Amino acid sequence: MSLAKYAALSQHSRGRRHPEPDPQGRDQYQRDRDRIIHSSAFRRLEYKTQVFVNHEGDLFRTRLTHSLEVAQIGRAIARNLALHEDLVEGISLAHDLGHTPFGHAGQDALNECMRDYGGFEHNLQSLRVVDLLEQRYAEFDGLNLTFEMREGILKHCSLNNAKQLGDVGERFILKQQPSLEAQVTNLADEIAYNNHDVDDGLRSGLITLEQLKQVSLFGDNLAQVQQRYPDLQGRRLIHETVRRMINAQIVDLCQQSQANIDRVGPQNIDEVRQQGRLIGFSPAMAEQQIELKRFLHKNLYQHYRVNRMSAKAKRIVRSLFEAFIQEPDLMPNEYQDRAKQDQTHALARAVADYVAGMTDRYAIREYQRLFTVEEREL
Ligand code: MG
Repeated sequence: MSLAKYAALSQHSRGRRHPEPDPQGRDQYQRDRDRIIHSSAFRRLEYKTQVFVNHEGDLFRTRLTHSLEVAQIGRAIARNLALHEDLVEGISLAHDLGHTPFGHAGQDALNECMRDYGGFEHNLQSLRVVDLLEQRYAEFDGLNLTFEMREGILKHCSLNNAKQLGDVGERFILKQQPSLEAQVTNLADEIAYNNHDVDDGLRSGLITLEQLKQVSLFGDNLAQVQQRYPDLQGRRLIHETVRRMINAQIVDLCQQSQANIDRVGPQNIDEVRQQGRLIGFSPAMAEQQIELKRFLHKNLYQHYRVNRMSAKAKRIVRSLFEAFIQEPDLMPNEYQDRAKQDQTHALARAVADYVAGMTDRYAIREYQRLFTVEEREL
């Protein structure tokens, strides 16, 4: 399928930090996407928490299945708008590579630990993984991805950090937008987590159908399903509702975004970057999204049983961080070497890299290895 003139066209890419020959048999963004899938950080997503800690149950989303759902939704939108699907897929699969173990609780704890050492932001860490921490290629650190893939991975960033990032940080200083592909991925992420958190929330029993009926996006679609299938119950009823919600959001997003693009008429990706945000929901759908998010916040993310998991997760992350800061020689050699580099806060950053890279179960095991003693081990 031919791409729109305002899509990210591989032949117009701003290129890679370390110049490489053009790929053969695939374009630049396909190569980027393939590199992401082969990275070790990508494989670790399987054992990282989305909302529910990995060992709570086999059916809940993990960071990996979340990322796959983002890619699926993102590709559907990209194809509809004649944007570059492989770029959207790559950004989707990489967007959470920098996430700590234990979801947002882990990230908040690590950010607190790093307060005096430049902080910790998971978006910036995703970029750090693909720019530096993956060690696979002879000629460069990281995956040496294109500018457009890196631009998309760096969804937010503080102004202070943006200043230190060079080209990829510039848009935060100039208040410009990224490619339409990056904008699509952002909203595909939202669509994915709002809907799968409804599904996982119901499965866990922390939220109920009765409560969700009050939320208009869910309630409207549930009413449609019940009208068509009056006897439908249980998982099928939930799934029929959630799939309609996802579809309604994708259709709305495509229609509104195409209208925004047509109104402004960008001739190329650089003109896209100069405009305000062009990918977005209609005002009515945006309002419904906010209502759903508020509901999930109050009733799921702040549920006392989730809070208990979060509190425990934070204690683990904090304890690991403190142990390694006090005794760096407890870390594997590659992180000890990183800690000795001639950079400000090199030790703290090396510890953050090590802890952030852990899966949930690795962090739990590491915690047990460091803090529990069994008689037979002595
Ligand atoms: Mg995400």
